[in-house]
Amino acid sequence: MACRHHHRPSLLGVPLDPALRELALSTKGFMPADEGDALHDAALRAGDTLPDAPWVEVGSYCGRSTIWLGDAARHVGTTLYAVDHHHGSEENQAGWEHHDTEVVDVRTGRMDTLPFFRRAIGDAGLEEHVVGIIGRSPVVARHWATPLALVFIDGGHGVEPARADYAGWTPHVAVGGTLAIHDVFPDPAAGGRPPYEEIYLPALESGRFELTSVTGSLRILRRVG
Ligand code: SAH
Ligand code: MG
Repeated sequence: MACRHHHRPSLLGVPLDPALRELALSTKGFMPADEGDALHDAALRAGDTLPDAPWVEVGSYCGRSTIWLGDAARHVGTTLYAVDHHHGSEENQAGWEHHDTEVVDVRTGRMDTLPFFRRAIGDAGLEEHVVGIIGRSPVVARHWATPLALVFIDGGHGVEPARADYAGWTPHVAVGGTLAIHDVFPDPAAGGRPPYEEIYLPALESGRFELTSVTGSLRILRRVG
């Protein structure tokens, strides 16, 4: 019998393909496996709720978290815009804890993670679902107008960049949509404070977002108003 209503099969609980998970874990970056899996799950849920809206990732680095999100975008049939200037955060620069000399462009002496990002997304077969946007997050946000089903913030972790990411991107999360924030450390001894103080707390205090899950330093919030 012909079915007049198209019920999409549920995507909830579909894990990242093991080969892609291996690729993500072998890609340079800072996303732990369990948090990547939680991000994938949250993204599928976001797609289940708002299947027609695209997603934004702020802070892709070499594309590690982007593989989890991009695979979820492929399942949902949406597009992930992956925003990064690819010159690294303050905490990625020479002399800081998270510096990697392999990502320095020898010509300029500046970090350039774009070639690594391109390679990761190409190797993952995700070019149809992931669009890299090369630029500073506040500049990209300035003219952004499309409501988003998911925003994942993992950009600069200083006070200024975190504030700008909150101001620039959280208004674009559609009601019912998801705000995911990485490196949220309520305990100052565990890590830097700005993602907690400048993004996570303001989102909850605004009354527009509710906490839905916690995995390591990953917080998943839903826009409620
Ligand atoms: N999500 C990545 C890690 C991101 S590291 C992973 O899973 O491994 C943070 C990234 O944010 C860096 O690549 C840095 O270049 C980028 N970044 C920091 N501040 C930014 C800004 N203001 N605009 C755009 N990108 C920024
Ligand atoms: Mg991070």
